[in-house]
Amino acid sequence: MKVALLLGPPGSGKGTVAELLRRAQGGYVHFATGDMLREEVKNGSDVGHEAEPYMKRGELVPDALIIHIVEQRLEMGDAEAAYLFDGFPRTLIQADLLDESLAQRGRTIDVVIYLATLREVILQRLTGRRVCKECGASFHIINIPPAVEGICDTCGGELYQRKDDNEETIANRLDVYNRQTESLIARYEEKGLLFSVDSDQGLESLMAQIEKRLGAGSAGSPQAGADA
Ligand code: AMP
Repeated sequence: MKVALLLGPPGSGKGTVAELLRRAQGGYVHFATGDMLREEVKNGSDVGHEAEPYMKRGELVPDALIIHIVEQRLEMGDAEAAYLFDGFPRTLIQADLLDESLAQRGRTIDVVIYLATLREVILQRLTGRRVCKECGASFHIINIPPAVEGICDTCGGELYQRKDDNEETIANRLDVYNRQTESLIARYEEKGLLFSVDSDQGLESLMAQIEKRLGAGSAGSPQAGADA
C-alpha cells in the first residue's frame, strides 16, 4: 500500500491531481490539510478560530496545530490504507513528525510527487480557481471549466473563490513556500523519494506520468472518510 505526498507551490495543481486520482482509481485516504482547516473554519471550531488569521494572511498555521489535526485523522483512518498527503508536510518539523507517525504505524513514504511549475503560471491558475463548497473539488474558469458555470461536476455543489486566492495573499503564500517549504525538495531528493513532474504540461500527460509512477491499482480499496 502506497503512502504518497504531493509537494509543490500554491497553484501547482495539487488539488487537481488529487481529484483526478480519486476519479481514476479512488480508494486512498486524502489528507489535504488546507481543506481540513477550511472545514474547521467553516464549523467555527477552536482549531478553526486559531487557524483563520494565519490562513487569511497566507502564512502557515503553527506546526503543533497541523500535526494535531493530521494525527486525529490518522487515528480515524485504516492503518493499512493508501494515503495521499496533499499540502502536508510544509516544514521540516512537520516532515520529521510525519516520518515518526508513519513509523509508529509500520509505514514509510513511498513517493513524493513534486509538481514543478513556473511562477508566471501560478498567478493565472490561482486567480481563476473555483472550488466546490460541498466536496472541495477544484476547477478553473478557463483551464478546467465545469460543465455548468458555478456548479460542481462531481456533486452539483456551488463553486466559490477562496478568500486567499487574491493577488496580495498569493504573493505572500509564494514567499512563505520559498522560505519554509522548498527545502523539503532537497530532503526527499536525498532520500531517493522525489518524483519530479512538469505540472505545466497538459493534464492528460501529467496524470499519465503520475499514475504510471504510482502503479495501477496502487490506491487499494475505498476508505470511509476519504477525500475530505
Ligand atoms: P492550501 O489549501 O494547501 O493552499 O492551504 C491553505 C492555507 O492553509 C495555507 O496558506 C496555510 O495557511 C494553511 N495550511 C495548509 N496546510 C498547512 C500545513 N501543512 N502547515 C501549515 N499551514 C497549512
